[in-house]
Amino acid sequence: MANFYRDNNDIQFLFRHIDAGKPAEVCEEGFRFAGEFDYAPANAEEAIRNYDMVLESLGQLSGDFIAPRAEEVDRQGNKLNEDGTVTRAKGIAESIEKLGQAEVMGFTLPHRFGGLNFPNLIYTMAIEMVSRADAALMNIFGLQGIAETINAFASEEIKQKYLRQFSEGKVTGAMVLTEPDAGSDLQAVKLRAFQDSEGHWFLHGVKRFITNGCGEVLLVLARSETDRSGGLGLSLFVCEPGPTVHIRRLEDKLGIHGSPTCEIFFDNTPCELIGERQRGLVTYVMSLMNGARIGIAAQSMGIAEAAFRLARDYAATRKQFGVAIEKLPAVRDMLIDMKIAIETGRALLYETSRVVDMEIGYAKRLEEDSRPSASPPRRASSGQALRGNDSGDKEEAKQLKNESRKYKRFASMLTPMSKYYCSEMCNRVAYDSIQVLGGSGYMRDYAVERHARDARITTIYEGTSQLQIVAAVRGVCSGTAEKYIAELAALDYDDGVKDLLGMLNEGTRLLTESIPFVKEQGNEYMDLYGRALVDIAIDLINGYLLCGQASSKVDMEAPVAEAGAGGNGQTISMKERKARAARRYVTKNAPKIAALAKLIVMGDKSTFTEYGALVGPAQME
Ligand SMILES: Cc1cc2nc3c(=O)[nH]c(=O)nc-3n(C[C@H](O)[C@H](O)[C@H](O)COP(=O)(O)OP(=O)(O)OC[C@H]3O[C@@H](n4cnc5c(N)ncnc54)[C@H](O)[C@@H]3O)c2cc1C
Repeated sequence: MANFYRDNNDIQFLFRHIDAGKPAEVCEEGFRFAGEFDYAPANAEEAIRNYDMVLESLGQLSGDFIAPRAEEVDRQGNKLNEDGTVTRAKGIAESIEKLGQAEVMGFTLPHRFGGLNFPNLIYTMAIEMVSRADAALMNIFGLQGIAETINAFASEEIKQKYLRQFSEGKVTGAMVLTEPDAGSDLQAVKLRAFQDSEGHWFLHGVKRFITNGCGEVLLVLARSETDRSGGLGLSLFVCEPGPTVHIRRLEDKLGIHGSPTCEIFFDNTPCELIGERQRGLVTYVMSLMNGARIGIAAQSMGIAEAAFRLARDYAATRKQFGVAIEKLPAVRDMLIDMKIAIETGRALLYETSRVVDMEIGYAKRLEEDSRPSASPPRRASSGQALRGNDSGDKEEAKQLKNESRKYKRFASMLTPMSKYYCSEMCNRVAYDSIQVLGGSGYMRDYAVERHARDARITTIYEGTSQLQIVAAVRGVCSGTAEKYIAELAALDYDDGVKDLLGMLNEGTRLLTESIPFVKEQGNEYMDLYGRALVDIAIDLINGYLLCGQASSKVDMEAPVAEAGAGGNGQTISMKERKARAARRYVTKNAPKIAALAKLIVMGDKSTFTEYGALVGPAQME
């Protein structure tokens, strides 16, 4: 019996360390749904108990049911039938059915549509576990953002039509954005949306690389304003498969074989507009993609965890030169770095998810408070009314606005940072896992080669790493990173990690000095050194987050491994483990940060001047 929740002490520690009560209160809007819906919690404790229970059963489903099917799914893949339908791998179809029965296909949807109404933080943990079991299945389980987008922006009629079906697992969705000439640059989307004389909408054109394009609910980005180029000419539509939706091909891919990647031709397909015209890309898809980016970061975590565990176990049993290879410093070093990289990615991702929950919560409160008041004021956790009377209200409203703005900025910087960091980390970990297994790692006898193939896509879809950096560097150069880091620095830390704070402080000084230099050099220079700036900022944030975990108010015991064996029954306090992880992470990164900062202010522009000479001409035949 495997349970991917119970066997992961880091997820369990973070579940306790990050106070899920706050996001719970935000999602449950002050627990006002209790009594109205069967499973709606009446308070934070009840909500947290529910989260724990659902994660427990999903952890078991992942370990016992999904994971044992993953290898076969990878070998079987999907099949495009002659009639244009797609047959999924057997294991994927079975797992989707199980997930529907487990009532976890509406993780973040409101109670009124049969959803769990859980925070993103808990959904992130769930995606990670499912991805550890089968990264390809995650591409269907993790597409719940499609339902969320409908919930956030579509008309009540469209919500009623689809959302309950999503929660019940009766339909799955696809995010239909990419075209042959519009990949990273979605403003170039050409697929046409037009109206007939009665105002009905239709779609015409081709989309490619669409995950689960054979799903039942398709959200399609299309050009509705023929006279407008760029993002403002685009709107978002929903349609269903039918005689005018042709799956023309299934891509033959390196990895995630269980996830069908479709090319679709829409031949005057009837559809409905989501929300308002022209807001398709700039508002709705941006919001959809932000959620999806966190999903891919969580997928990356799951793949990395699965790969690491195989490497770790192999290193304990494989003997060379008369010893288990985990006794060899080079192997040991790799394994420690892999484990710390995973825990660091998890720290960043869960913190990002928490911040996103706060952002959404504050946005909801603001929206509610700006409506003409009909209902009584909702209460914050402090017991204060969020909407009360006169001057106190004004002050509170101002505070609310400021907090909302702050979380929005933090979320828009942390989301691309998490996607970038976790996906790059997962690739490194998956490749290093193969390295630990040596020749065996290259063979299909072990799942690490599958994990490495599955890992490869994570830095590409939902925006490549380069695009994540473009998004994150805005936050770094506009002062958001400094503000966020200052908030982290002002928290309480245990004495055991205080010396590390000094190093992080020095790193922050170097970052602060580098930013104006980059800005002075102009946008091209910022594009070039964006990665270095973002890397420094992430390293600092991660350092603080690990120190924060080492100073947690909660603690639990973790087993200690005895070299060459699975463990000797000894345990270590999780806080102590985290203090050691923070020490290794911060001290190893301090010289890297200094070197990056030095590189940034060196002002080297050879990339612009030397390209032709160093790269040579393209051979265009
Ligand atoms: C398996 C798979 C599943 C997918 N699923 C979906 C899906 O469900 N829905 C959907 O709509 N799309 C999907 N996609 C498409 C995916 O999102 C795009 O492939 C991705 O956004 C990159 O676009 P592109 O492939 O056109 O690459 P390009 O945009 O051509 O990029 C090529 C290279 O140029 C770099 N580059 C481009 N612009 C910049 C820039 N401004 N700054 C720096 N570097 C830049 C990129 O980082 C990359 O290295 C999927 C793709 C794959 C492979």
